[in-house]
Amino acid sequence: MQKPLPSVTLESKLPHVGTTIFTVMSALAVEKGAVNLGQGFPDFDCDPALVDAVTAAMEHGFNQYPPMTGVPALREAIAAKIAQLYGHRYDANAEITVTAGATQALLTAILCAVRQGDEVIVIEPVYDSYVPAIELAGGKPVTVQMTLGPNGYAVPWDEVAKAVTPKTRLIMINSPHNPTGTIFDERDIAALSDIVRGTDILIVSDEVYEHMVFDGRRHDSMCRYPELAARSFVVSSFGKTYHVTGWKVGYVAAPAALTAEFRKVHQFNVFTVNTPAQHGLAAYMQNPAPYLELAGFYQHKRDLFRAGLEATRFRLLPCDGTYFQCVDYSAISSVPEAEFAKWLTSEIGVAAIPVSAFYGTPRESGIVRFCFAKKDETLQTALKRLATM
Ligand SMILES: *Cc1c(COP(=O)(O)O)cnc(C)c1O
Repeated sequence: MQKPLPSVTLESKLPHVGTTIFTVMSALAVEKGAVNLGQGFPDFDCDPALVDAVTAAMEHGFNQYPPMTGVPALREAIAAKIAQLYGHRYDANAEITVTAGATQALLTAILCAVRQGDEVIVIEPVYDSYVPAIELAGGKPVTVQMTLGPNGYAVPWDEVAKAVTPKTRLIMINSPHNPTGTIFDERDIAALSDIVRGTDILIVSDEVYEHMVFDGRRHDSMCRYPELAARSFVVSSFGKTYHVTGWKVGYVAAPAALTAEFRKVHQFNVFTVNTPAQHGLAAYMQNPAPYLELAGFYQHKRDLFRAGLEATRFRLLPCDGTYFQCVDYSAISSVPEAEFAKWLTSEIGVAAIPVSAFYGTPRESGIVRFCFAKKDETLQTALKRLATM
């Protein structure tokens, strides 16, 4: 008789992390044949010229390790774009790093900045990767909740100011904001500036939706404000901008001293990022039209989707940026958000994400999030189904 092997156990470093609601809702959408307006990715293809540019890079033999910090032509194109749009000239060699998507940029920024016991302020509803990344770094997430008024969600900066302690190392911000679709304006910038002035608090600014700001408003990047740029890791993602979420290429822009520390972690975290994609993106970025036209492209989809929703009993929240539309369903049902999202998927055939999933301790506001980064036909189909409610 063979002796049974002793079982090996591993104490979880992230005991609170389970299957995410995105996976659950996507699986349910497939099972029920629902239109998936849950998870945030386009159901249409990218520009074939971008695929050609990456293919050409592979054919030209750009298939080995690139420089650790990113392909120089791409870093230069990123620095030029930021200078053009936001008026801040980063040094492409010392201040721009190409990453494996925004997720890795966020994790790496947090790992290089946060030590055991440091506090990091996060604003709920919060993107799902922030808190686990802070916990892996040994930091303590300190949450402040956005307020929800007649004009939608807003950051209560007085609460953020109160959450600051001598242990505060970092504030995580995200504008345009997923899931609420709110964007920062001058008042947000002024309040944030007042909070950090005279402190050594760093900022991680998640700006992956920087090119999706509507109604002629502008994206208030941290790069626009020298005082804020001096303490910020500014993160963006080509996945969101060029409809290629599966490519996982992004970047971080930060002052040289912060970038130097970022790169020490990056070097042993991923080392380098997909070479042909970087060359292809560098060539493709030479034409600014695709990112300049993105706001108009998504504004059309937002307007089409909102116009259709007007015929339902959903109450529309404002959507000033991103490709997400939040709706209040309290005129339709009083069940908790996760339950409502499951019902909507199973019975109506449209998948949505409960906003409560973006809170550490679920907060019920009667609100779900739809993603409108879909073909017009997909949105029409979803609207027809929603109209049956
Ligand atoms: C999609 C998303 C990311 C992740 O971007 P990747 O480039 O796919 O890693 C980060 N932050 C927010 C707010 C997002 O919506």
